[in-house]
Amino acid sequence: MSVVRADAGTLPDLFARAARVTPGGVHSPVRAFRSVGAAPLAIVEARGARLRDSGGREYVDWIGAWGPALLGHAHPTVIDAVERAAHRGLLFGLVSPDEARLAERVTARVPCCDMVRFVATGTEAAISAVRLARAATARPGILKFDGCYHGHGDAFLIRAGSGAATMGVPDSPGVTEGAARDTWIARYNDLEDVDRVFVAAAGAIACVIVEPVAGNMGCVPPEPGFLYGLRERCDRHGALLVLDEVITGFRLGPGGAAQRFGIRPDLVTMGKALGGGMPLAAYGGRVDLMRKIAPEGPVYQAGTYAAHPVSIAAALAVLDVLDGDPGIWGRLEAAGERLEAGLTRAAVAAGVPARVQRVGSMWTFFFTSAPVRSWDDAGAVDRARYAAFFRAMLERGVLLPPSPFESAFLSIAHGDAEISITLDAAHASLAEVAR
Ligand SMILES: *Cc1c(COP(=O)(O)O)cnc(C)c1O
Repeated sequence: MSVVRADAGTLPDLFARAARVTPGGVHSPVRAFRSVGAAPLAIVEARGARLRDSGGREYVDWIGAWGPALLGHAHPTVIDAVERAAHRGLLFGLVSPDEARLAERVTARVPCCDMVRFVATGTEAAISAVRLARAATARPGILKFDGCYHGHGDAFLIRAGSGAATMGVPDSPGVTEGAARDTWIARYNDLEDVDRVFVAAAGAIACVIVEPVAGNMGCVPPEPGFLYGLRERCDRHGALLVLDEVITGFRLGPGGAAQRFGIRPDLVTMGKALGGGMPLAAYGGRVDLMRKIAPEGPVYQAGTYAAHPVSIAAALAVLDVLDGDPGIWGRLEAAGERLEAGLTRAAVAAGVPARVQRVGSMWTFFFTSAPVRSWDDAGAVDRARYAAFFRAMLERGVLLPPSPFESAFLSIAHGDAEISITLDAAHASLAEVAR
């Protein structure tokens, strides 16, 4: 795999120094760009749908900070709210009025979310929701799907060992077999596999946790009936349904995927788009469940940075922008359609087997002709060709996710110009990687 020429924007010296004092030179593994054989970019400024690196090169950004940048980068309303909040003091460690206002607005728009608790990261939201589900059902097991990501909590770093295995084995050293034992894996979009796990687990499943639209194996939509089938099976087996809406919440519509697909989960996790770039996440759900959280109930969860005032201010601004312009959803859809159609045409023109999978503003360009419905299908994707495509696009000033298995994100700041640049670059890049 060839490596993109390290230009000034990748700061080779600084990156080499960083790698001596930080594992891999990065603070989150995907930022290293390893799976696409490129040097990491050092970004100095982000505005709208564009990024600028330390060498002064500009890129059309499709990473979108991995989901938070629904409004684009540095949206003036959000920046203004953040500045004003910062001037009032960064952190009180006490109650503040705005957090109650935000809780009211979140519970008003997200189905099933009677009460909400704000935390700092999606990982925290997911581990807290699972703890609550276990406490409420007095059961140890969780059912998750192969290829779904719910943060780096031990219980989530597990996947099926083989097709036949029902019991999870740890994905990372340091996750104990004890933790792995309580995580059961099923194939996404496969209700028969879910039934198999429920039978094998024999009443041990506290909750099913699922990304309603998977974004962490590339964009994989739920098949018709899949989410409803999970709801029905949870009811039948006395398990809770946890929708992990850390990506989809506030992105796929005002009430997230739950509203878009008409599903009532018992618990829901949110994050990313809600904070508009500030660290904010949340979990919420049925009032009888949420009342079990301390101090109302015995299930413990706390945080120094929980409901950080600056993040709360940013989230209120995000909701102001979304609610102030109901046309946003239609425009996102139209932009997504234009992008999808253009990329599909470019692949056909180049004679490259590829497909775009998209739900609203989440999309992935998969190098395979067959639909990707699960992590097993994702195995058919031509990773080397994606890596070459990524590098060819980068050369042309378009930054895609640095992995064939990460969703790309459209924002309201991606206008006709950004889409045209992307489609022109795709035509040229696909012709190049077709050879
Ligand atoms: C990103 C993500 C998380 C984890 O959120 P962090 O803020 O990175 O801890 C959890 N669930 C899903 C679906 C995610 O995409």
